[in-house]
Amino acid sequence: MSDFYNERQVKKTKKNHRCFGCRGKIPTGSNCFYIAGVYEGNFGAEYLCIKCKDFLVKNPEFARDGYGEGDIRDAMLEDEEWRKQREKML
Ligand SMILES: [Zn+2]
Repeated sequence: MSDFYNERQVKKTKKNHRCFGCRGKIPTGSNCFYIAGVYEGNFGAEYLCIKCKDFLVKNPEFARDGYGEGDIRDAMLEDEEWRKQREKML
């Protein structure tokens, strides 16, 4: 759990950013989220794309446990894989 956490929505980015969650490119003019926080004593500020933010909203336990760069993408792929497996079984 982080000691300090702050997020705000950015309606239109002024330059290109990289999403912390999926390492995807967030092009200029995108709607995204800016996340700032202190985690284990380190200050970090990152950008999150809408898709990753959406994932965190749907999976609050994932956000609570903390995640590293690119972890959301891996989790989303796993999620998708799992869904495909289930479809096959039905
Ligand atoms: Zn992302």
